[in-house]
Amino acid sequence: MQVVTRYLDGVPLVTVFVLEVGGVKVAVDPGPAALYSPLDVDVVFCTHIHLDHCGSAGHLGKPTYVHERYTRHVVDPSRLYEASRSVLGVFAEKFGRPLPNDKVVGVADGARLLDAFDAVHTPGHAPHHVMYYYRDNKILFAGDGAGVHIPELGVVIPTTPPPFRLDLYLQSLDKLRGLDVEVVCYPHYSCTRNVDLLRRHREQVETWVEVLRGRLDLAIEDALRLLAKEDENVAKIMNVGGLYLDFYLRFSVLGFMEYLRQSASSS
Ligand SMILES: [Zn+2]
Repeated sequence: MQVVTRYLDGVPLVTVFVLEVGGVKVAVDPGPAALYSPLDVDVVFCTHIHLDHCGSAGHLGKPTYVHERYTRHVVDPSRLYEASRSVLGVFAEKFGRPLPNDKVVGVADGARLLDAFDAVHTPGHAPHHVMYYYRDNKILFAGDGAGVHIPELGVVIPTTPPPFRLDLYLQSLDKLRGLDVEVVCYPHYSCTRNVDLLRRHREQVETWVEVLRGRLDLAIEDALRLLAKEDENVAKIMNVGGLYLDFYLRFSVLGFMEYLRQSASSS
């Protein structure tokens, strides 16, 4: 498998995995439009249509697999881009505007792709989130459905920007228990054989809920400080700062707090 890391401001943003299956070269999550560079591939699998993952698929001009209910936002990405700008602000602009892409293939939950991959609809991070399980090699391409894995820090943290759905996210993680996974490949930023990270990430999410529930009036900075006391992954990221803190961690806490506020007000 070929691994191509796309850097933003000197920091790894997305890792693209390219593998050949039955003579077909597949790229998983080609990265954002602004960081496009040509890839020698035949098809593109997007775990989800967010700009940092699927934004350059139109530039590649190859058949692009995305969740079946969201193909229109890949064909015409204008609404997706504006919605991303309203949530992510300057980061959406740094990721760049996707090109329209009419070579879109809709993926249904449970679909068998290229006679080699199983699609696992795993909403929560986003409703259009799909993981791809490569059965022969027992590799799970996890997208953003199991957190961000930063190997040099030995850290996993959620990436759960608003509108985050905690209930669906946990159900999605539970769905993975039925898979025989030996390798997890995270687009942020690498593959690992430490598949226990999936279980530990679920526990981490439960810890975050315990810490934040009942403290939903806190400012993000105060919420981060509380989380750092209970979750050493958060403490490590806060020490390092930069993109990891500003992009993932702050937006993830915001996603949790907004979800918990909404569920508190509707119960
Ligand atoms: Zn992402």
